[in-house]
Amino acid sequence: MTESTLELRPAASASQPHLDPIVGGRVELQLLTTLKCNLKCTYCSLGVGDVLGSQTELKYDIEQLAAFIDKQLAGKEIYVTFYGGEPTLNLPLMKEVMRRFPGFRYQLQTNGTLLDNLPDWMLHKLSNVLVSIDGGEATTDGFRGRGVWRQVQKNVAHVRDRIGGTVTARVTWGKPETSFEELDDLAESFDYLYWQFVADEQYGGDSLERRKEVLVRLIDKFFNRTDKLYPLIPLMGMVRNKVLPSRVEELCHGLTQCRVSTHILNVMPDGRIFPCPDMLYDPAMQMGEIQGNWLKCSPLQPHPAMPCESCEAFAWCRRNCMKNLHRGYVQGDAAYRERVVEPICELIRFMGREIDRHDPQAWFAEATLPVRKQVADAEVYEYVEIMP
Ligand code: SF4
Ligand code: SF4
Repeated sequence: MTESTLELRPAASASQPHLDPIVGGRVELQLLTTLKCNLKCTYCSLGVGDVLGSQTELKYDIEQLAAFIDKQLAGKEIYVTFYGGEPTLNLPLMKEVMRRFPGFRYQLQTNGTLLDNLPDWMLHKLSNVLVSIDGGEATTDGFRGRGVWRQVQKNVAHVRDRIGGTVTARVTWGKPETSFEELDDLAESFDYLYWQFVADEQYGGDSLERRKEVLVRLIDKFFNRTDKLYPLIPLMGMVRNKVLPSRVEELCHGLTQCRVSTHILNVMPDGRIFPCPDMLYDPAMQMGEIQGNWLKCSPLQPHPAMPCESCEAFAWCRRNCMKNLHRGYVQGDAAYRERVVEPICELIRFMGREIDRHDPQAWFAEATLPVRKQVADAEVYEYVEIMP
């Protein structure tokens, strides 16, 4: 018997216990192919606890991975995200996994600088490529190093026609100076733009107001047309949750929409499994291991100390980032709560009010069927956090 069968998910009710560590029929296997990276982004979350670069070799093999999948994930629909470090630095593992499990769906999260190393057959099989970029050239190169923005744009243009699925710009909205124009350029040139507010002390002075000014323009543009989607994932997701509230239950069962409480497994190169890729430094977060072939429920679950259930945003936000809530309210890191978590929650509530100002139900009612389909059902919702 595995540990998992003995554990009750803390959020489960007594009448409906979740005995399965994976809630629902799908599971995302996020394989950190390496913890090495060829860039040095200033805000990298793997820098916490010196995780970045700490594991350079894989400590499990493909047979152990297959045995884990057979025993722990039997009957689930599996999709794999290659993650790192920079995952393309371990191309042999990516190839081995894609050949061994041809029926899975695949996503790549990459900094884009080595994308042109992927052979065509791999590009064809990718359902989504998340390309990390921070905005325009000055912003991106400021965080990532000189010349990175141009190199990424060139590489994406070079491989784009050969990628089977979508290409999503993944932005960490770090600086308050990030402009509407640079986010808009990304939204217009990629299939989707997805951003998260940086989990760092970047919310002092007038920086919230500056971000709100940009958010007002992005939200205005989102509602400007009903015949063409403005493909900003956090806005699509929030609008979906407001106009089709039952959808918030479907993929994540009403728990956080970043999947850490329900169905994402981050597998480190050493085989240990964690729910959140930003908390790999904390042994208390471990929820399984490939070699030992065990899995238990995610420890990142709703907690009475979290303020979400009395928040105006709860119905559509559903506890945005469990790492932030855990650090701020469960571990009691007051400085982090005040300087990072609360400002981000303020921005989320602000976005909700701005969306309401545009009467999302009336907009959805007028939208063309392709736009409605995308808002309701976009496959990309499965691959990203949805909330910012
Ligand atoms: S805005 Fe913050 S407090 Fe409100 S539900 Fe979301 S994460 Fe929780
Ligand atoms: S949004 Fe989810 S996956 Fe991302 S850092 Fe927060 S808890 Fe982790």
